[in-house]
Amino acid sequence: MIETTGSLNFIEQIVVDDLAREKALEIHTRFPPEPNGFLHIGHAKSIVLNFELAKKYGGKTNLRFDDTNPAKEDEKYVEAIKEDVKWLGYDWGKVAFFASDYFEELYQLAIQLVKAGKAYVDQSSTEEIRRMRGIPIEPGEESPYRDRPIKENLDLFRKMKQGEFEEGSCVLRAKIDMASPNMHLRDPIMYRIIDAPHHRTGTDWKIYPMYDWAHGQSDAMEGITHSLCTLEFEVHRPLYDWYLDQLPEFTPRPRQIEFARLNLTYTLMSKRKLLELVEGGYVSGWDDPRMPTISGLRRRGYTPASIKNFAQRVGIAKRENMIDLGLLEHSVREDLNKITPRVMAVLNPLKIVLTNYPENQVEEMEVINNPEDDTQGSRKVPFSRELFIEREDFMEDPPKKFFRLGPGRMVRLKSGYIIQCDEVVKDAQTGETQELHCTYFPDSRSGSDTSGLKVRGTLHWVSAQHAVDAEVRLYDRLFKVEDPAGEKDMDYRDLLNPESLIVLPAAKVEPYLQHSKPEDRYQFMRKGYFCVDKDSAPDKLVFNRTVTLKDSWAKLAKKK
Ligand code: ATP
Ligand code: MG
Repeated sequence: MIETTGSLNFIEQIVVDDLAREKALEIHTRFPPEPNGFLHIGHAKSIVLNFELAKKYGGKTNLRFDDTNPAKEDEKYVEAIKEDVKWLGYDWGKVAFFASDYFEELYQLAIQLVKAGKAYVDQSSTEEIRRMRGIPIEPGEESPYRDRPIKENLDLFRKMKQGEFEEGSCVLRAKIDMASPNMHLRDPIMYRIIDAPHHRTGTDWKIYPMYDWAHGQSDAMEGITHSLCTLEFEVHRPLYDWYLDQLPEFTPRPRQIEFARLNLTYTLMSKRKLLELVEGGYVSGWDDPRMPTISGLRRRGYTPASIKNFAQRVGIAKRENMIDLGLLEHSVREDLNKITPRVMAVLNPLKIVLTNYPENQVEEMEVINNPEDDTQGSRKVPFSRELFIEREDFMEDPPKKFFRLGPGRMVRLKSGYIIQCDEVVKDAQTGETQELHCTYFPDSRSGSDTSGLKVRGTLHWVSAQHAVDAEVRLYDRLFKVEDPAGEKDMDYRDLLNPESLIVLPAAKVEPYLQHSKPEDRYQFMRKGYFCVDKDSAPDKLVFNRTVTLKDSWAKLAKKK
């Protein structure tokens, strides 16, 4: 739900005011991705805004692909985008729309503008057009082709469409004002020739509409009431309105409203750069769990609810800002804390042998699945003579404050017994600790402890003979600097965090996880939240770390 307590965000306020004025108004928004890459967390903010707003006020939301540049777009992105929007939990109705559905209609509207003397074919070179556009503080220069007769324009425009001209040899421009202080109104290009097959219209078209021409008219044709976009389009708004002014048949008209895009620390959000990371092999693909893409976050273990909560938490602002990645991580912890079972997994195993525990005995220890949620029940975890604990939970020469295991020290094994370390067995050659020989206290069993022993540390563990092998992938932020896009004289590829992925190939997890499927999520006690990766197989489970347990945002929230 969009926040309703407190004040409404400024876009919602506009919607509420519009509804108060026009009782019969049906709110109609759209999400307009260009299918030239996968969606990222920034897009999620826009998706949540558009869909939730319409949902709340009884309206609807279109999914419309802005597929006006065949040189960069692809059907595979269309499919991926649909999948992501669906996974987030949104429904765009029976059909997805495409700007390319309107190519013929847009062409006819352009002819209407030419006939009205509002558009002309310019045969200046790209370079000339750029030069004559000038700079904002001085007027530009009018093209020598600007005042050619309407008939000639119609003829040339038709020829452009029929493919009689080379790419770059001419464009159709709106005739507005070469002296406007707004550069977007200096006779903007409406159509350019692109000689590339389009993923939907094939080779039918040789000319393609520019974003500004296609967008507002597509909004109008679909009956969009509120066209929400990011701040960089604010300067395009006069053009958005100018086109609609020329086409009075479109009433009522859509209204463009801009909001601040989402920027996240340690994250790049430009699709161009994300594509470069994929193509350059810096990550394993668009859905690499380190990518800020929706499919990457999904593979990393994020839930749709956590992404929605995050999007609503950051809110809708009018000014650019930078959001702490920690807030996104907080949102997923908050959700996973409630929904995931807490299980035991040893990422870096060290074997311990309980020398006084009977050789063939196995006990079933009862472990509560999630203390936050009784309905999740409990499970049995086998306990036996040989166990694995975390290598870092043992120190041969521990400082005083180390409450874990050391020679002669005692700890409790979670939901099991208290043990004491008697002997450290080392590899003769390397001197590395190979295993620990310990004794357990039979009367210290969790739940029926009569031993009277007091220990400070509790360790997680798995039974060696029952454990399942796993590979664990520890992910961290992809960039080592807070604002990779802001480091102007550095290539962002040199700012990648070399420790963004650490693979632990020999982890051991409790048998309860044996039949886990990709996207199953768990809390590994003391270690963080993890989910099963799509690379997982029954004989070799693969887990991705979604996020560690330490939450700096939760502490801040409590202090307030
Ligand atoms: P990029 O700049 O990364 O290439 P884009 O904005 O060109 O992305 P589109 O596919 O055109 O990508 O975006 C679809 C919609 O998502 C647009 O309405 C755009 O304003 C919105 N959007 C894109 N990035 C963000 C962001 N970081 N925060 C909020 N909305 C965004
Ligand atoms: Mg765009």
